[in-house]
Amino acid sequence: MSSVEVISIPFPVVSRRSFSESTSYRRQEERLNALVANLSCSPTLRLTANDLRGATISEEDIFPSLPPLLHGHPDVHLRNGVMKANSSAAKHDPDAERAFFVADIAQVYRQHIRWQTLLPEIQPFYAVKCNPDPYVLRLLAALGAGFDCASNGEISQVLDIGVDPARIIYANPCKATSFVRNAGKVGVHTMTFDNADELHKIARAHPGAKLVVRILADDSKSICAFNIKFGAALDTVPSLLAKAKELNLDVVGVSFHVGSGCYDPSVYTDAVMRAKRAFEMGAEAGYQFSILDVGGGFEDALFEQAATYLTEALGTHFPDRRGIKIIAEPGRFYVSKAFSLATNIIARRAPLAEAFDKKDGEARPPVMYYINDGVYGAFNCILFDHQVVHPYVLSMGGSFHVASSEPLTKCSVWGPTCDSIDCVCPTTELPSGLRVGDWLGFNNMGAYTSCAASQFNGFDVSKVVYTTAGYGAAEARSALEKFAAEGHGL
Ligand SMILES: *Cc1c(COP(=O)(O)O)cnc(C)c1O
Repeated sequence: MSSVEVISIPFPVVSRRSFSESTSYRRQEERLNALVANLSCSPTLRLTANDLRGATISEEDIFPSLPPLLHGHPDVHLRNGVMKANSSAAKHDPDAERAFFVADIAQVYRQHIRWQTLLPEIQPFYAVKCNPDPYVLRLLAALGAGFDCASNGEISQVLDIGVDPARIIYANPCKATSFVRNAGKVGVHTMTFDNADELHKIARAHPGAKLVVRILADDSKSICAFNIKFGAALDTVPSLLAKAKELNLDVVGVSFHVGSGCYDPSVYTDAVMRAKRAFEMGAEAGYQFSILDVGGGFEDALFEQAATYLTEALGTHFPDRRGIKIIAEPGRFYVSKAFSLATNIIARRAPLAEAFDKKDGEARPPVMYYINDGVYGAFNCILFDHQVVHPYVLSMGGSFHVASSEPLTKCSVWGPTCDSIDCVCPTTELPSGLRVGDWLGFNNMGAYTSCAASQFNGFDVSKVVYTTAGYGAAEARSALEKFAAEGHGL
């Protein structure tokens, strides 16, 4: 897919007052809304007057320890960042053209509303590993979500912002003994297991834990399968429960995970059926289970389908849900669309002679662009999360306007390190006029990106500019302000 998205909105560089009072203001807002309606990245976004105003005014910090939370549409901040880079370059800043993210925290709020609307009975426990961004964690904490943590580090990150340990599930079935002991010490009692050794370990390190048995689910319809590493086969569950009884451990529920990035949500049906079977095994072993954890795997585009399958399956297999708390561990659902990345073209390799280019036609060697984030940084999602990313032109020749008549050229896009595996797009099409110094943007960069970025070869991890825009912006901000006013997350 070649996805050169051409943005032709006047950039709001005028001051707050003169801009909002200008006669063209309403028209600009309408045009921006029309634009945003067409952007594949943000179908639920609508711009308000505030979005346009905020870009040039300084903000009051909600959390003194964090970068400011700006107003304004993400595209405005992407352009602001590009313009800032230009002035940094003029001042010989040693890293003037650094790549950067823009995060729209209101998008996380919108996803939460979507979740609550379609799955009102299921309490989300956000999977921290997907993106432990400080604003994302604070907003979800403020909105009352729980958290799925997998390590001491994630647990303390969540506790540090003032979340009650009862709102954490330690959902890693294979934990270090010292981590289990520490979880008990800090008050995190709910944890998963899928093998007998883990039960012996927990009996020694945290005998009062509330255990959730993680069972195998069909993960063949997901881009990241987990069964090869985690999950107890149903026929092993009775012996695991017998072992737990013998060790005097309290097993309180069942969890599964259909795999991350699930592209066929009908698998939830089978998984809930298996969970029901495990509930029956619990009763046979003398336990009365009270937690059903339906895991993660929710894809933004398939969420409505997943919610339908889950709701139906719960109706079928758990018609009487009294005394059962149903939770889930969504990760990418909350964040994938909330982050965009702006990268600078730092180098280009192209045939020297234009004449040679034209003669050779198709056989011409492709143009190679080198950008300043790659698979060792934010684009590790290409290697670890099997993602395919699509660049669009953010700025070209010093302009945010790219003529639609601009001819396209086949090319490849590479990261900045000296490793040849560092390829962002093996083949794509971009305007032939694209040169060193121009900027490429990437949408949907919120899930499994910066959290796994390294500094290999001496390249820094890209920083984030935060904003709130569109529907839910005011609600997200006031939730965060209330959270901060209560003394949390400062
Ligand atoms: C990674 C993970 C998740 C999150 O998965 P998503 O596909 O991002 O929703 C949830 N639970 C567990 C145990 C995980 O390992």
